[in-house]
Amino acid sequence: MKTIAILGSTGSIGTQTLEVVAENKDIKVAALAAGGHNLKLLERQIRQYCPSRVAVWEEAAAKELRASVRDLPVRVVSGMDGLIELSVMEEVDILVTAIVGMIGIRPTIEAIKAGKDIALANKETLVTAGHIIMPLARECGVRILPVDSEHSAIFQSLNGEDRKCISKILLTASGGPFRGKKRSDLEKVQVEDALKHPNWSMGQKITIDSATLVNKGLEVMEARWLFDVSLDQIQVVVQPKSIIHSMVEYVDGAVIAQLGTPDMKLPIQYALYYPDRRYLPGERLDFGKLSQITFEEPDMETFLGLPLAFDASRAGGSMPTVFNAANELAVSKFLHKRIRFLDIYEIISASMQAHKIIQNPTVEEILMTEQATYELIESRW
Ligand code: NAD
Ligand code: MG
Repeated sequence: MKTIAILGSTGSIGTQTLEVVAENKDIKVAALAAGGHNLKLLERQIRQYCPSRVAVWEEAAAKELRASVRDLPVRVVSGMDGLIELSVMEEVDILVTAIVGMIGIRPTIEAIKAGKDIALANKETLVTAGHIIMPLARECGVRILPVDSEHSAIFQSLNGEDRKCISKILLTASGGPFRGKKRSDLEKVQVEDALKHPNWSMGQKITIDSATLVNKGLEVMEARWLFDVSLDQIQVVVQPKSIIHSMVEYVDGAVIAQLGTPDMKLPIQYALYYPDRRYLPGERLDFGKLSQITFEEPDMETFLGLPLAFDASRAGGSMPTVFNAANELAVSKFLHKRIRFLDIYEIISASMQAHKIIQNPTVEEILMTEQATYELIESRW
């Protein structure tokens, strides 16, 4: 019996994690955390999974929840202290970080210090604080188990192999809903168009990030930290149907890949039970019907999310934080229809140009950089 805590339980990854728990029946859920905007769902989750502790970000929402679950033996906490309290609970073996944004950094660090394995979906944590998280995880002897489908595929393709023999990582990308379009086609695209992902059903922010290829850029940085490779060893390959979830090429030229129908429950379940595999209901690949898998080079001239991410990663230090923070605010503005699609690139690029890099930033410096980036953007857009 394993015990987990989930940060971001009401989101896309969070709810699918709970579906995996419901299907397997041998994982105990000790704690759940979410933002205050979907308290009804959170309450249903509390009644179904019986966690002993729950965190809601906003204290007002936590108060409301306390009232509605007062018949249950659950303690409801709030704010960053609440998130951290959940992350270090004695009985928790694995912390599932399914929260969006840099808010995940502190709870992840505290969980690692408390010896918890991390099932990591919250890629922003590694993008901005990979230089802190990875050495700390090694020092504390905890595992960072990737939940992102590409990184899980790489992780699975590395099973039993000597990491020193990696020649390169082939990170696959669907290309998003606008694959094949040129800059002029993107000038007038609407939020509704960008939210139509061809293969995956995900949270809104990451769906927009897939349309801009910023998501792939964040994943390049995530891969760099997770697998300790250089940027030059990461190649993005467009594979529109999301059948190959990523590949590893070894020094002898052999390429090992993980394939499957697009279903986030597979990487989630793999992280929860690693190194074991469990039955997972769902569609299987039918190679007869599939008939072909096609590949393309990413269009780095149109989809600037990818080259900007490589630039940010190469610059290092606090620059990936600027890339990530600028994108977060720009995507939020785009979702609220306050800027156009292509302005997202403009905002990221201008924020990066204005930034003076801090080498090896501390958590405080990362959060200060995030704040400074937001302020710069608010003053200009
Ligand atoms: P989502 O928007 O669907 O869910 C986010 C969750 O975080 C919600 O439960 C929300 O309530 C919670 N949350 C937000 N702010 C919070 C706060 N201040 N305090 C507590 N909880 C808070 O997002 P998602 O698509 O599930 O993505 C979560 C993370 O996983 C992101 O980092 C994303 O990049 C990554 N990821 C998602 C997918 C996917 O298929 N959705 C795939 C790979 C990686
Ligand atoms: Mg992914």
